[in-house]
Amino acid sequence: MSVLVLGEADVARLLPMHECIEVMAEALEALERGEMHQPLRFVVRPPDAAGLLGLMPAHRAGAEPAFGLKAVCVMPGNPARGLDAHQGVVLLSDGETGEVRAVVNASAITAIRTAAVSAVATRLLAREDARELAILGAGVQARSHLEAMAVVGSFETARIWSRTPEHARTLVEQGSAPFPIATAASAEDAVRGADVVCTTTSAREPILRRAWLRDGAHVNAVGSSIPTTRELDTETMVAAALFVDRRESTVNEAGDFLFPQREGAIGPEHIRAELGELLAGTAEGRTSPDELTVFKSLGLAVEDLAATEYLYRRARETAAGTEVDL
Ligand code: NDP
Repeated sequence: MSVLVLGEADVARLLPMHECIEVMAEALEALERGEMHQPLRFVVRPPDAAGLLGLMPAHRAGAEPAFGLKAVCVMPGNPARGLDAHQGVVLLSDGETGEVRAVVNASAITAIRTAAVSAVATRLLAREDARELAILGAGVQARSHLEAMAVVGSFETARIWSRTPEHARTLVEQGSAPFPIATAASAEDAVRGADVVCTTTSAREPILRRAWLRDGAHVNAVGSSIPTTRELDTETMVAAALFVDRRESTVNEAGDFLFPQREGAIGPEHIRAELGELLAGTAEGRTSPDELTVFKSLGLAVEDLAATEYLYRRARETAAGTEVDL
């Protein structure tokens, strides 16, 4: 069995943000149409372990069927070691024979595809006159969100806040965007006046308050992807028209949804639509310029499968990567 191995540099080269945004839009719509399939992810959290192992399987039906499996360790201690917190691979298997076609670096895919999905949400939900961007957090996702927002928005300025001010300063110095970027002294300073806010932290308690958000703002809530952490306060979730990547994932995995639900503030009916429904034209997005919209991102296995299928095709076209006889 011949397997194509694609490393971090291959992924960065073959999956540019603007192309990944279209790949993600296609995948979310395919999921909505039932052409792609995924169960809830399986998370292994051994007691006393330094992190967790997440298993994210998916399938695509049709003319070129495929299975995908992302196996990724999330290790919170890694950034202090200079390592990405997300470490693992995505396997691409032939949907007819089950033969493994590719093994791809998962950190790079996760960084790019997550921000690309937020870009899809921003394109669908943010006001067209959005000019001010705020990013909370200065890690891997913050960096890729800065890049993704620049692709889909006509921003004139961005403010970045992070818990460790030095990290925000580094992102401002190194991040590339076609508009000025500055650090903010507090999350509130970053968010006040912003038209689009991306929350990309590992915070356990809310770092975003409803009181700071202007009318008509759009929020991409990305950082909390487990039931026990949250970034948004209950007031934001209650006030928002809530959009999600997947209803099933949201009601099972999203602390940003589950904390307010436990308080009796919202229930599953509060979810207005999945992005796939907006893309398929079966649900409506923003209904007024003053509406507050929130996209709650969990991250889906179909996104990893679609990114990996795309990378495999591009690598074949350009003879990239390393063939291994397995
Ligand atoms: P990084 O470790 O690279 O960055 C983490 C960021 O969170 C840093 O800016 C850090 O601030 C900040 N942070 C950590 N703890 C706290 C806290 N208690 N309060 C406020 N800020 C805090 O991680 P990533 O960028 O890779 O991921 C960020 C989050 O996004 C993670 O929680 C991850 O699980 C989630 N994620 C979600 C995905 C999705 O699809 N929705 C996909 C991938 C990741 P500083 O360093 O300045 O102290």
